[in-house]
Amino acid sequence: MIEVQDIHKSFGDKKVLTGIDAIFEPGKVSLIIGGSGSGKSTLLKCIVGLHKPEQGRVFFDKQEFTAMDFEEKVPVRKEIGMLFQNSALFDSMTVEQNIIFTLDMFTEMSKSEKRDRANFCLERVNLLNTNKLYPAELAGGMKKRVGIARAITMNPSYLFCDEPNSGLDPETSILIDELIQDITNEYKCTTIVVTHDMNSVMGIGDYILFLYQGQKW
Ligand code: ADP
Ligand code: MG
Repeated sequence: MIEVQDIHKSFGDKKVLTGIDAIFEPGKVSLIIGGSGSGKSTLLKCIVGLHKPEQGRVFFDKQEFTAMDFEEKVPVRKEIGMLFQNSALFDSMTVEQNIIFTLDMFTEMSKSEKRDRANFCLERVNLLNTNKLYPAELAGGMKKRVGIARAITMNPSYLFCDEPNSGLDPETSILIDELIQDITNEYKCTTIVVTHDMNSVMGIGDYILFLYQGQKW
């Protein structure tokens, strides 16, 4: 479970979030929706600690993340899988290297263990035999799936997806939505999906937080 309390975030004198409260339950897909520039990505970044809110608190399973120092946050970070807007794959690395990068950062696994884990995650998203390809060689939906494979490498308890459907055709969007829903059920993770796509809202989403002018509606 993730709980946010009274989150405020500004950039300069522009107030983007003005007091957001929400609870995101495990085993469910929660959606943060709102128009472009409404602060969806900013809220997600405040939750994962990429932005520091001026005010407010974030709890991961009752532990106050916003009160932790860098070292204390590490075990929580290990539990976080993140699919960034535009996939954010490393273009100079192969698909397999993109996934192994996370394992290098957080584990002491041997080379062969890492390769096995990468294959397992790629198989889970239906992308076997793409290990040696580079992101530039992949279609949009495949890139998203590599992003999802990378997000699940560490068996996350928390999964964050920023605009997982951006740039995808409707059919591929549905497949990605279903994959996110299935992974949430399998891992019982607390999943938060940021989207401006109303179709997603119809397909997935057990809980919806609608952002408008810095407020929850
Ligand atoms: P959304 O994801 O809903 O499209 P964002 O959270 O990215 O919106 O942005 C909300 C507002 O905050 C926008 O006006 C954007 O320009 C501004 N903003 C976001 N990130 C930054 C930043 N790092 N520096 C300055 N302004 C920012
Ligand atoms: Mg955004």
